[in-house]
Amino acid sequence: MVLDYLAQYTYKSQSLGWTLPAFSWFIDQTIGGAVSTATHGSSMEWGSLSTQLRSIRMVLADGSERTFSRADNEHLFRAAAVSVGRLGVISEVELAIVPQTQVTKSVIAQPWEAFVEDLLMVEREFNSAVSSGDSAAQSRALAKLDETQLFWSVPDASVWRMDFKHDDKTPASAKPYAVQAASGSPTELYTSAQQSSSADSSSYVYHQLPSYPADSIAFMSDMPMTWASFFNTAIQPYVQSGTYDRKNAFISQSEFTTRNNNFAAYDQYEVAIPLSKAGTCLQGLSHKMYKEEALWKGFRSQPLIRFLSSEDLYLSPANGRPTMFINLEDYVTKATKPEGRNPEFEEVMKFFRYNCDARLHWGKAGWPQYASCFDGAQEYQEQWCHFGCAVNQLDPTSKFAPETNLWQWHATKGGQAVDFASCCDSSGFKSECQCVSRTDC
Ligand SMILES: Cc1cc2nc3c(=O)[nH]c(=O)nc-3n(C[C@H](O)[C@H](O)[C@H](O)COP(=O)(O)OP(=O)(O)OC[C@H]3O[C@@H](n4cnc5c(N)ncnc54)[C@H](O)[C@@H]3O)c2cc1C
Repeated sequence: MVLDYLAQYTYKSQSLGWTLPAFSWFIDQTIGGAVSTATHGSSMEWGSLSTQLRSIRMVLADGSERTFSRADNEHLFRAAAVSVGRLGVISEVELAIVPQTQVTKSVIAQPWEAFVEDLLMVEREFNSAVSSGDSAAQSRALAKLDETQLFWSVPDASVWRMDFKHDDKTPASAKPYAVQAASGSPTELYTSAQQSSSADSSSYVYHQLPSYPADSIAFMSDMPMTWASFFNTAIQPYVQSGTYDRKNAFISQSEFTTRNNNFAAYDQYEVAIPLSKAGTCLQGLSHKMYKEEALWKGFRSQPLIRFLSSEDLYLSPANGRPTMFINLEDYVTKATKPEGRNPEFEEVMKFFRYNCDARLHWGKAGWPQYASCFDGAQEYQEQWCHFGCAVNQLDPTSKFAPETNLWQWHATKGGQAVDFASCCDSSGFKSECQCVSRTDC
């Protein structure tokens, strides 16, 4: 919806409107839900939607409203930009936008092994640049994966790899975005829409589509090769090389197309693996998946692989490390009644979590199945406690605490357990304290 609105925001020198610099595959979730979970596309330069935030406004537990920006309060901004609903209710966001320029998408089909080799090379290059402290070489290594997206057809061990080149001019030969042009500032457009008749204003009001629960389809529990071929056909519109306006170059799925594709129930997971071990991780998995254990049998749709550079937002899954994200969908578990299992898929998830240091996406499945005793201090180190200090400050009565017990923070000082609050000040978790693991499991 935001992308449609920006594309319609045109004027003479910007006839194709604007867009978000980098966005997720699904584009019709709420903005609050997207930024509170560090929702992302694939951009080393622009990062997740949370990193694209300029400011964020929240209704806090005491009913007051507060706007956070880096300039105003770096510590609270880094907490508020990825808050998973734990700090307050997001009521307004200010996001970076860019003009709708021309982008050329190049798609190649590659054997899986070839992609893993390429990734191993980037991993080695990146790690050696880190050990030698050469930041220019680190950037050069990361640039090789900037905006890269891959669909991995698991059963037939191949990938569609998409890379993008920005031509930085107004799309001429490109198909223009097919919406009616509008003029005026966003405020004017919004106000005039509010003031006009209900028929007119309806074009600016988003009527959410009714949602229907998808059925579980028994025959999805079998025939992985047939399903691979089905899904490879289904993604064809996304894997066409060509020149597009920026909004249409990157893969995106609206609520409408998502609903149409929702022909069978599934769970969607996403793992965030540090780039420093991404190639080694996939090499190890390949061995298990294709040689030792035939784990490929647990997959139907293609996992989507994307990349972000390191983010400094406390709870971003890319915090402190450039990251490879892999979105994985499990159709098999729900295809059996009563709900069954997908042991091959489970093995892969465990491999990512326990062999590859994978963090879980905050807005997808896997909680608590693959994080049954989630230890924030171990997964996010002191960033976890910085976030805990923001919770202490903004939600002191735990109004926004969910029932799960993962939101807990513990500290020691000089080896002695101390009251967590005593380790917090206005800039976060004090350096003289140590952020330590929970001990209840
Ligand atoms: C088909 C599909 C494709 C997807 N593709 C991508 C993708 O490409 N990249 C990616 O990173 N993610 C992707 N996602 C994940 C999606 O972006 C997240 O699950 C997102 O959180 C969903 O937003 P929602 O509005 O449904 O939030 P909900 O599921 O309602 O909430 C998610 C979390 O956000 C919090 N929250 C929601 N609204 C607010 C608010 N106003 N204030 C404070 N907290 C709030 C909730 O408390 C909760 O913790 C995809 C999801 C689907 C279903």
